[in-house]
Amino acid sequence: MILCGSTGSIGLNALILARKYNINISALSCGENISLLNEQIQEFKPKFVCIKNENDKKLVKFPSSKIFVGQNGLEKLLKECDDDLVLNAIVGFAGFNVSLTAKKLNKILALANKESLVVGGKFLKGANIRAIDSEHAALNMLLKGQKNIKKILITASGGAFFKHKVKDLKYVSSKDALKHPNWSMGAKITIDSATMANKLFEILEAYYLYGFKNIDAIIEPRSLIHALCEFKDGGTSLYASSADMKLSISQALFEKNDKNILNSLDFLKIPSLKFYKISLKKYPIYSLKDILLNKPDLGVIVNAANEYWVYKFLSGNCAFLDIANGIFKALDKFADIKINEIEEIFYLDKKVKEFCAS
Ligand code: NAD
Ligand code: MG
Repeated sequence: MILCGSTGSIGLNALILARKYNINISALSCGENISLLNEQIQEFKPKFVCIKNENDKKLVKFPSSKIFVGQNGLEKLLKECDDDLVLNAIVGFAGFNVSLTAKKLNKILALANKESLVVGGKFLKGANIRAIDSEHAALNMLLKGQKNIKKILITASGGAFFKHKVKDLKYVSSKDALKHPNWSMGAKITIDSATMANKLFEILEAYYLYGFKNIDAIIEPRSLIHALCEFKDGGTSLYASSADMKLSISQALFEKNDKNILNSLDFLKIPSLKFYKISLKKYPIYSLKDILLNKPDLGVIVNAANEYWVYKFLSGNCAFLDIANGIFKALDKFADIKINEIEEIFYLDKKVKEFCAS
């Protein structure tokens, strides 16, 4: 397979599976962690690699003619490798073009980069997507062969501040926000979990993947139940597993689910499972759910503003609550947009980020 974002949390989990099940890695790509990339090159012996910055090329221990750079480099990487499978584990808007290219080249897109569907789901229609996320892997299992579905629910952990009082959120730092109770993930998605932007994005993803608008999220603080499916007859099925991304990655990588990826949960050892409503006071970003479902084009606005403010927060240059405020301001400004062409998405992403910086 072609692995984009190999040095991140999803990338590393994918490589654990590759090691264990002898998956051939034709290409590796990363942003800036060149020393880890060099280790991966030595172990997996790819045909090509791609990095973000031209200046880092000299640091990569690999024949220079086989190192590609930047967004164009990622496109070349996909074109040069004849593998059918691309795992897109790049974080943020930077992963969108890989998804578009995978679709253009008729490759299977194992998609962790949720921002791709959030910003441009309608342009990925018809792509051969296998979504990598615990919630969507759960939905795949729950919805298989089902017809009489009334509603689907995905779960949220509540993130780092589930137990905090709303008034205390004014003073939290990025270090606090990065303490996710259940999952070990990249910095951006960990902040997105604390603000609930992550769940908003997953709802939009589910809409594009399954065509449902009757979808909502509830909090299950242990992250053991990942999704629920309510049927018209009043029954509900739930999908449970321990919080380990290797399960959903494996479901995207392998045709057959016949491998022992995780140990089953022992329900006798789980003292209690509780569910909570998502408080819009604590997680104001989640109030955008119906707005986004009614006008999914706005995904690019929310994503761009979120990306801008999350990185500002991570670098210690704004407060936690500025993330939500920044998104609402950007939405006010760009509420009337309508997207007809893919290029407009790239244009708007840039414009919104400029607006946030102004
Ligand atoms: P991460 O920050 O740990 O890793 C991101 C990867 O992308 C790294 O390899 C990094 O070098 C690369 N990268 C960053 N900027 C880049 C750029 N401009 N160009 C090229 N490469 C770049 O992130 P992660 O937690 O692995 O998440 C990756 C994606 O998967 C995100 O979209 C996230 O929302 C999604 N996701 C993650 C998890 C999880 O458990 N970590 C679960 C579900 C979905
Ligand atoms: Mg998830």
